Amino acid sequence: MRGCAVPRCRKCGEQYDEDEGARSPVETLGEIFLESAGEEPDNLCPGCREEIGVLGLLAFGE
Ligand SMILES: [Zn+2]
Repeated sequence: MRGCAVPRCRKCGEQYDEDEGARSPVETLGEIFLESAGEEPDNLCPGCREEIGVLGLLAFGE
């Protein structure tokens, strides 16, 4: 039971389940991209992490 421990995304405000170990490559890339930008990858839902990952792909894919 998670109860009140459900995290909330700081970007879109949605509650999400922290799904450790089940991250897609794009999600992982989003985290790396955030960290390289000096930002905390925490408190983001998988959807927003993926969105940032895709942006990172575009930025690095020149
Ligand atoms: Zn989100």
